[in-house]
Amino acid sequence: MAKLYFHYATMNAGKTTMLLQASYNYRERGMATMLFIAGHYRKDDSAGTISSRIGLEAEAELFRDGDDLFARIDDHQRHGSVHCVFVDEAQFLEDEQVWQLARVADRLNIPVMCYGLRTDFQGKLFSGSRALLAIADELREVRTICRCGRKATMVVRLGPDGKVAKQGAQVAIGKDVYVSLCRRHWEEEMGRVGAEDLVGFTGG
Ligand SMILES: [Zn+2]
Repeated sequence: MAKLYFHYATMNAGKTTMLLQASYNYRERGMATMLFIAGHYRKDDSAGTISSRIGLEAEAELFRDGDDLFARIDDHQRHGSVHCVFVDEAQFLEDEQVWQLARVADRLNIPVMCYGLRTDFQGKLFSGSRALLAIADELREVRTICRCGRKATMVVRLGPDGKVAKQGAQVAIGKDVYVSLCRRHWEEEMGRVGAEDLVGFTGG
């Protein structure tokens, strides 16, 4: 049976490069892949491009809230074959869309490879990641390292002033910079996390 995979990591760990490489490997063997990327923060409405920091890129379809991904993949499959589905920025998937992708694996027998961030800059799960962590068949961590050499699992956001943002929307559009850190250094930058902080935040 095909499986639903979730490759998760923090920022700048090379998830997108891995996605593009894996898709390329399928295509090199004459198999067809279907790529998706979140359209939530894009101005162009039609098509998307998945591009990695090291210069690889590929065309992708956009997904947005309310889209039925099962229907789109099923339709595509009827007009030509799909051997594997890849989803970048999978943290932005809705719960229902994660279930749709699970059905693609279970009922269409097409493997689905999702790549995304586990947590936001406040250390909270993204909704799509929460659903994927709950129901994906295979979880794979993509590793990167903190400035201290430990595994980086968290991310801080630096605002335009170069300072660490402690509050604000889950996703900032603009010139913010993200830095991946280990948990210890993340907590030192963000300040100690208490129970109130974990339930009190309502912004975004
Ligand atoms: Zn560190």
